[in-house]
Amino acid sequence: MSEERRVVSGQAKKTDRDNIALRPRRLADIVGQDRVRENLSIIIDAATARQEPIDHILFYGPPGLGKTSLAYVIANEAGANIRVTAGPAIERAGDLAAILTHLKQGDILFIDEVHRLGKAVEEILYPAMEDFVLDIVIGKGPAAKTLRLNLPRFTVIGATTRLALLASPLRDRFGARFRLDFYDPAAIERIVTRAANMLDLEMDDEAALEIAQRARGTPRVGLRLLRRVRDYAEARADGVITIAATREALALMDIDQLGLDDVDRRILSTIIEKFGGGPVGLDTIGAAISEDSATIMDVYEPYLIQLGFIDRTPRGRACTIHAYKHLGIHFEDEAADPSEGQQRLL
Ligand code: ADP
Repeated sequence: MSEERRVVSGQAKKTDRDNIALRPRRLADIVGQDRVRENLSIIIDAATARQEPIDHILFYGPPGLGKTSLAYVIANEAGANIRVTAGPAIERAGDLAAILTHLKQGDILFIDEVHRLGKAVEEILYPAMEDFVLDIVIGKGPAAKTLRLNLPRFTVIGATTRLALLASPLRDRFGARFRLDFYDPAAIERIVTRAANMLDLEMDDEAALEIAQRARGTPRVGLRLLRRVRDYAEARADGVITIAATREALALMDIDQLGLDDVDRRILSTIIEKFGGGPVGLDTIGAAISEDSATIMDVYEPYLIQLGFIDRTPRGRACTIHAYKHLGIHFEDEAADPSEGQQRLL
């Protein structure tokens, strides 16, 4: 299934467009992530008091948890302009040089998917972030000269789903780094309820909680489920988002009690049924279910690990007893009965 069609994907989709209106604007609108919020508030207050641009900040964590929203909130709170780009969009060193030379003192440059910057682009970014200079090479060969331009003091806010792929010199240039974690259902419930109010929807409290419990700890998924349930309530009921309408809509989308969809369940059942519960390499799992292994790692796996359904071992991924139980597959503990050997499943 393509990520675009998948309802519980944390990745942004075209149909998420009205999320922009729902985006938090101030730190006070950010639900959950208390530690991140508190630290950001200190960083912004201190920089404002010193009348200096804020330090470079890196957010990392699975998609849909609020990295982009936080960048906008920081710009808003600091009264700074924000320029938004993404790693793959900056193809050549010259592209980045053009962006940098247009920045003004105190501006924020938000780079999404910062782990996807090319080497040559990174080389330009290092001195720009560290010393606020841009080295331009003019000419070629022995006659080439380097020209050093001073840049205004600006702030880079980077976002990545894959911290491990970030070159360590780049990682080190971010003075503050924050990992975003999955939200608990109570926080998602608040986000969904706030959105329903903003969209003028009538929704029962029970329905908000039900959506929250199936949103995989991800605000973007919670908001998307809200929209799908609203569609269902409008098309098949009287428009009020009741618990009954919510359950029916979610059942139609094949999203189970924990927010897992068909692809999640296929990942788990493939590991269990084809590979004896694992460990098995990510590429092998990807090939077996025709999904890109990077997508499995970025999008599906983090929540399955968070649930305790998958273990990441040096030899690959293995399913835990919780995954067997969730799928209703009998688990035979090899350690308890070595005579069973590899026979984990029935
Ligand atoms: P990311 O950049 O991590 O993929 P986004 O910042 O685009 O995630 O967040 C997705 C959506 O979820 C946003 O449109 C925003 O409305 C909502 N959202 C994310 N985090 C929060 C939060 N902490 N409080 C309220 N809404 C949030």
